[in-house]
Amino acid sequence: MEYGKIKRRKTRAVYVGNVKIGDNAPIVVQSMTDTKTHNIEETLNQINRLVEAGCELVRVAVPTEKDALALKEVAKNSPVPIIADIHFSPRIAFISLESGIAGIRLNPGNINDKGKIREILQECKKKNIAVRLGVNSGSLEERLLEKYGYPSGEALAESALYWSEFFESVGFTNFKVSIKGSDVLQNIEANRIFAEKTDIPLHIGITEAGTLQQGSIKSAVGLGILLYFGIGDTIRVSLTADPVEEVKVAYQILSSLGLRRRGVEIISCPTCGRIEVNLPEIVKKVEERLEGIDLPLKVAIMGCVVNAIGEAREANIGLACGNKSAILFKEGKPLKRVSEEEMVDELLKEINNISKNLKG
Ligand code: SF4
Repeated sequence: MEYGKIKRRKTRAVYVGNVKIGDNAPIVVQSMTDTKTHNIEETLNQINRLVEAGCELVRVAVPTEKDALALKEVAKNSPVPIIADIHFSPRIAFISLESGIAGIRLNPGNINDKGKIREILQECKKKNIAVRLGVNSGSLEERLLEKYGYPSGEALAESALYWSEFFESVGFTNFKVSIKGSDVLQNIEANRIFAEKTDIPLHIGITEAGTLQQGSIKSAVGLGILLYFGIGDTIRVSLTADPVEEVKVAYQILSSLGLRRRGVEIISCPTCGRIEVNLPEIVKKVEERLEGIDLPLKVAIMGCVVNAIGEAREANIGLACGNKSAILFKEGKPLKRVSEEEMVDELLKEINNISKNLKG
């Protein structure tokens, strides 16, 4: 592997509405609403917030007929393609397929009726609806549990391969696969085994990852390792938090690996005994004011000059703080000295100038 560049696994293309997944397309960021889907207004509000944060596909839960019937309005008014999350009920799947959605998520393990699955796939093919084939450690087939003794990574990969072959045997290919183990290592193992054997795109995610902090760390580790090996065509970070946070964390993971970028990259030092300004407060203010601004910029905010010169060279713009003041750097060169009070405003002013120049 060439250092600094991830070589992505070769996969075939799948389309969820107009969103391409696989075949070297940018890794698609998706999330899931936590509203009752039949509460159409609330659901659409959340979808719009997710899209503003950069979400490209939104999945909604469809546990009841009422939710399935609401999909029509949701799909019609959503700015991005909608994926219906279906479990257990072919009946709800069939209602959902009539609503203008672009994709469904289906775990064959919890429908467990090949005849019904075949019918659903035929309908999807007719309506150009993509499928996410889900395999979960919780709904693994009995025969695989007996063969492996527990839902190991190998067992999960085997189940995913089995159902993929079944989908293909009935002539359905517009699908991606997600394999969710009960822990990070099992997840990595299962996805790696599956990835070696097929060119089917993979949806990756760490299920039930936890709260904002714990879930972000678990996801960064699990997804980061898979992405490093070139695995993953679309990602969802699962958090027990506002789903908008899932989108932000997803981009942070992808940008850490140079796979995608969104917003403005802020580099700040951890601070130490040399610090003579309130750096956490300064960084927080800059972050708040840059929220929602999408520019290909690296901003360095350093507590002192020790690392600032080096970082400033790497960054487009930055502050090297000192005693209640800072040097404002631009493209590696000092621009001027600013006081602690004016630091944030001055930095933002320069970022605005750069932004104007970028827009031409
Ligand atoms: S940049 Fe300066 S203040 Fe920040 S951690 Fe490094 S030495 Fe400490």
